[in-house]
Amino acid sequence: MTKLIKCAFCGGTGKDPFDLLSPISHCLVCNGTGQVEIEEPMTTCMFCTGTGKNPLGARVPCIVCGGKGLNHSEHKIKCRQCRGTGKSSDGLPCTRCKGTGFSH
Ligand SMILES: [Zn+2]
Ligand SMILES: [Zn+2]
Ligand SMILES: [Zn+2]
Repeated sequence: MTKLIKCAFCGGTGKDPFDLLSPISHCLVCNGTGQVEIEEPMTTCMFCTGTGKNPLGARVPCIVCGGKGLNHSEHKIKCRQCRGTGKSSDGLPCTRCKGTGFSH
């Protein structure tokens, strides 16, 4: 089942939060609608802690959740490898949970 949620990357405004192209450019995650679809069940993306923004510094959407701030995941248990942070020691997405922070 898919659910409509508020786009985390732009905070539901539908505008590019960083004005990368121009102040009126649309958010590239939600195409300017302010909402994105995600399949249930879902978990907060631990790689970006739900912000939808890439924590590696670049002003681009999170590479794990694609800017939604949530991931579709059947798993509800914190990943043992990254202890639920979604990050490996080099700052890249954890190889076990792929950055979601949740694993089986
Ligand atoms: Zn958006
Ligand atoms: Zn994310
Ligand atoms: Zn992990």
